[in-house]
Amino acid sequence: MEKRDILSMSFSELSAVLSDMGEPSFRAKQIYSWLHEFAAPSFDDMTNISKTLRKSLNDNFVIIPMAIEKKLISEYDDTVKYLFRLYDGEHIESVLMKYKYGYSVCVSTQVGCRMGCKFCASTLNGMVRNLAPSEILSQIYTAERDNNIKISHVVLMGMGEPLDNYENVLKFLELVTDEKGHNMSMRRISLSTCGIVPKIYELAEKNLQLTLSVSLHAPNDKIRNEMMPVSRRWSIDELLKACRYYGEKTHRRISFEYTMIEGVNDTDECARELAKRLRGILCHVNLIPVNEVKETGLKKSSRDRIERFSSILTEKGFTVTVRRKMGDDINASCGQLRRSAEANSK
Ligand code: SAH
Repeated sequence: MEKRDILSMSFSELSAVLSDMGEPSFRAKQIYSWLHEFAAPSFDDMTNISKTLRKSLNDNFVIIPMAIEKKLISEYDDTVKYLFRLYDGEHIESVLMKYKYGYSVCVSTQVGCRMGCKFCASTLNGMVRNLAPSEILSQIYTAERDNNIKISHVVLMGMGEPLDNYENVLKFLELVTDEKGHNMSMRRISLSTCGIVPKIYELAEKNLQLTLSVSLHAPNDKIRNEMMPVSRRWSIDELLKACRYYGEKTHRRISFEYTMIEGVNDTDECARELAKRLRGILCHVNLIPVNEVKETGLKKSSRDRIERFSSILTEKGFTVTVRRKMGDDINASCGQLRRSAEANSK
């Protein structure tokens, strides 16, 4: 019999299974708390549980391990980049950032990615597999244990497309916000998508209080089609219609991510067209100087260009931020560390 991934189970699922095993109801609370409040790495760490039950837990369930394969600490700002090794030898990346308001972690949702965005290192070799809910959670728990801290914010902006692993990501959100578990506020979670339109509608219906970030990166289909294959499936109009709906349904401000690439999407005309397209959407625009990935050959826009682009949007009434670069010295953006690890192991 295959052992069940216990960290992916909700409290009610765990309660039901333990009750079937003839255990009293308080056991589920104890075990769930060991798993999600104390991030116990093994059943043998659960000292208030009898040896017999620990054995039967070991026989029926597994706490899937996640090992720190590599850890890079930025000299500028204490950003920590982790390369984690999964049970099957695959690798994923997470980034831990320290802000005034607390710790935030950027987690991966898939091993690799199949979205094919031209500027992104995570997608260069396609998608290997989805992460289980427990594997998304473990990135948080492992970073917390490693630094003896509590993480207050999560962004789903690491490797992978969260809405391409929809069920597992929703389960992760349920687990991480559970009062009996990590108890993170949904308002402190951001989910970033390249724009899988039907899933944006599905998510809107859930009416969660998370922040939706949409990787727009272009003001029209012509430019976006060149940068992001997903754009050929759903046009920018269809995407923005879904975003409008999301905003109306949840009353949450959407954050549009716009990667600034020299000579591709950074002209004054692009800024004006973007402003026109986004008119009336409750939103925020986040400009990101593209992180230069060797394989893509793309260059980031100059600081002056970004300033100018930003001021056009601001004049039109948008709130705009330019992403502060964190961990610049440790390649803290998606997929680059995993690529070098895979290249070394080959
Ligand atoms: N698949 C999701 C989330 C992962 S990527 C998405 O597309 O939103 C997180 C963010 O980083 C996205 O906005 C993505 O477009 C951006 N990104 C990827 N590679 C980048 C690079 N080389 N430079 C700057 N931003 C990048």
